[in-house]
Amino acid sequence: MENSKELRSWLDDFGLNHPLVIAGPCSAETEEQVLTIAHQLKDSDATVLRAGIWKPRTRPGNFEGVGALGLKWLQKAKEETGMLTTTEVANANHVDLALEHDVDILWIGARTTVSPFIVQDIADALKGTDKIVLVKNPVNPDLSLWLGAVERLHTADISKLGVIHRGFSAYEKTKYRNNPEWQIPIELQNKFPDLPLILDPSHIAGRRDIIFDLCQTALDLNYDGIMVETHHTPDKAWSDAAQQITPDTLKQIMKDLKVRKEVS
Ligand code: PEP
Ligand code: MN
Repeated sequence: MENSKELRSWLDDFGLNHPLVIAGPCSAETEEQVLTIAHQLKDSDATVLRAGIWKPRTRPGNFEGVGALGLKWLQKAKEETGMLTTTEVANANHVDLALEHDVDILWIGARTTVSPFIVQDIADALKGTDKIVLVKNPVNPDLSLWLGAVERLHTADISKLGVIHRGFSAYEKTKYRNNPEWQIPIELQNKFPDLPLILDPSHIAGRRDIIFDLCQTALDLNYDGIMVETHHTPDKAWSDAAQQITPDTLKQIMKDLKVRKEVS
């Protein structure tokens, strides 16, 4: 993959003051929930609404998402608030459905990045489109798998790419749900400085109280954006309740963060 400015053209097109802020619930639960959160985020720095509708859970028996039904809710949220939308795709069929419903940005989740054939199917399904695709790091601390997924998309002529750093699992428990291992995304950025790098503090933290510090570290390291799980009633969320924050808390975090990077 050559080092191309084209990779970050989509980010520059946003014409934002840094950083790019993606926010919204871990999972779309109901139409009302998606619209309530979207409206509460409308006047924040968040320009992209996230909501997972297909949720590949590590163990069975947990909520696995509302499925395609949620795509209509995202469309409605976009119409009502003007926010762009993003959701996770975990196979080629998800891509087809998301494209049919005008989802603006697709992301590949940590449990999918580890699977080269599925990433290839997703890349093939995206061929010929100009979608923005964000690739989360694989669950395990493996830079090659992460790069490999990006390369498969790039080879399928997907040029609007970015990566999301969501931390890496480890057997031993630490204060993080997933260890940041900051050196891994830094190494990736050294290889491909034009690839936009976004922090997902929510899945690194697994808890609310260190979201701010993680965001500040990302900005200090010149990350291009953050994706923060945000819910109007976090404790009642159907997935990842402990790490979600309210839109008001996000607004306060954005006020308190010291942004180092200026848009050129
Ligand atoms: C998510 O974004 O809600 C999610 C499941 O993330 P990850 O793939 O990073 O675990
Ligand atoms: Mn989540």
